[in-house]
Amino acid sequence: MAADADVIIVGAGLAGLVAAAELAETGRRILILDQEPEQSLGGQAFWSLGGLFLIDSPEQRRLRIHDSCELALSDWMGTAAFDRDEDHWPKAWARAYVEFAAGEKRAWLTARGIRFFPVVGWAERGGQNASGHGNSVPRFHIAWGTGPGVLDPFVARVRQAAQRGLVGLRFRHRVDELISSGGAVIGVRGSVLEPSAVERGRASSRIVVGDFELIAQAVVVASGGIGASRELVRQNWPTRLGKPPDSMICGVPDHVDGRMLAITESAGGSLINRDRMWHYVEGVRNWNPIWSNHAIRLIPGPSSMWLDARGHRLPAPLYPGFDTLSTLAHLRQTGFDHSWFILNQRIIAKEFSLSGSEQNPDITSRSWRQVIRRATAGVPGPVKAFLEHGEDFIVERELPALVARMNALVAGAPLLDPSSVEREIRARDLQLDNPFCKDQQIAAIRNARAYLGDRLTRSVPLHKMLDPSAGPLIAVRLHILTRKTLGGLQTDLDGRVLAGVSVSGRPVPGLYAAGEAAGFGGGGMHGYRALEGTFLGGCIFSGRAAGRAAAKAVG
Ligand SMILES: Cc1cc2nc3c(=O)[nH]c(=O)nc-3n(C[C@H](O)[C@H](O)[C@H](O)COP(=O)(O)OP(=O)(O)OC[C@H]3O[C@@H](n4cnc5c(N)ncnc54)[C@H](O)[C@@H]3O)c2cc1C
Repeated sequence: MAADADVIIVGAGLAGLVAAAELAETGRRILILDQEPEQSLGGQAFWSLGGLFLIDSPEQRRLRIHDSCELALSDWMGTAAFDRDEDHWPKAWARAYVEFAAGEKRAWLTARGIRFFPVVGWAERGGQNASGHGNSVPRFHIAWGTGPGVLDPFVARVRQAAQRGLVGLRFRHRVDELISSGGAVIGVRGSVLEPSAVERGRASSRIVVGDFELIAQAVVVASGGIGASRELVRQNWPTRLGKPPDSMICGVPDHVDGRMLAITESAGGSLINRDRMWHYVEGVRNWNPIWSNHAIRLIPGPSSMWLDARGHRLPAPLYPGFDTLSTLAHLRQTGFDHSWFILNQRIIAKEFSLSGSEQNPDITSRSWRQVIRRATAGVPGPVKAFLEHGEDFIVERELPALVARMNALVAGAPLLDPSSVEREIRARDLQLDNPFCKDQQIAAIRNARAYLGDRLTRSVPLHKMLDPSAGPLIAVRLHILTRKTLGGLQTDLDGRVLAGVSVSGRPVPGLYAAGEAAGFGGGGMHGYRALEGTFLGGCIFSGRAAGRAAAKAVG
């Protein structure tokens, strides 16, 4: 059978593009297939905030952060909590990835033109003991240009390779089957979807107008996770996180449908850790949606008070930005799908940011002028737009009026007792009369302000929530939003997909996987939880490994 290419890549997201760029550098002929139209090239990474996990970077050192590979590895392992036989390859990937992030990663990315915003964010702080979940130090480096700033260099390389005749890009080509022969994967079969002129990120039609069959020496599956499939998320929802929510909003575009995972399983690939997922608990409905059920994740600083649907304050250490999945597990025990932030104008102006490239136009457009405006001009424009138009935001001068509107926003009988909400807030405010206290969130705010980056850009000085000069008061209803798939196709360190769940499973000849489809490496290099900023980097690292290994294998 005549081959149509040396290698076929399924998925033109970040992982697929990195694999293609690596393959093209070695002169291999590549076909990249994607079900979406050309305008959505780049997949989720385009929409991302561009946060990248780096260890002991110049940005960290400038902010007096002492980091090391040893500390990061200890944080990673405490967070991942690997405990299964099939964690062999995920764990090997985790080690390799932490070493990459402490070593070659920054230089490799800057050689490709990626630059970093100078303030390093402190995501997932954990709040338990030193050996538990979370980042001991800030490591979240936002790429200058956010997601597009990470993506552009790889898009440019692939486009240049296309001009040289090495890469063929076939959009609206949806793969429905992997073709096998003699136990090896030798190609793909699928449907040609009707042309689509929808804007980037919007749901495109699934009307089939033809079919295709393409043959190659190897196939790389880089098709992303399951975050937009409510059915797959519910089906794989782990009991340790409680009952799946009835109501979830969606943090990823519709194309993150997870179909390709089952298709790859049918060709003999093993899918592991499918119950490991990363969903956020600080979701708000986008007032200006692009994809279906579009959720935006709030990335709050440390000061907002977090109340459950009945107005009880969440226990330590479930504070904003501390421990995503423990907060999710706790909230699933409350019997409700929503929770609340209570804050005030002073806090929102400095502490709220929104995830996503389109919600951060200053960094996305690489405009220092706009960045300085954001830091000095009160509530940032995108946050102000949510305050004005977002259905989950309530602003009131007085607490009783705020609670009355919170009750009115949720259908059914009122869930919040105004006097117990007031008691929670007043009890918190009373803790501020001394420079020491028993409230762990206040201690955490003091800790945050000991970090220069937080003091400058992400945390306001401690003050009473009910101080009228810091008002008006604000309540934000928070939804659970689906985002990342932590499990995936089991791969060895070359990105070869293994057959069978066992550690000694042999690679399926001709079959590779990268990015979210491969659990960002190995079938789940994050284990149960993530340190953040590790997904784009995981796509780059696993895309590079799969591309390099496939280039070697196809000779
Ligand atoms: C709003 C947002 C913010 C984020 N912020 C960050 C961040 O700051 N830091 C971080 O590390 N991560 C972040 N992420 C996560 C990160 O962007 C994704 O995990 C990553 O981009 C996934 O890349 P991928 O190439 O594996 O998959 P995708 O980007 O999902 O690309 C997969 C591609 O495969 C195609 N495809 C799927 N199935 C088929 C099929 N059967 N046939 C043909 N084509 C198919 C899809 O159409 C898609 O184009 C964010 C994500 C979002 C949505």
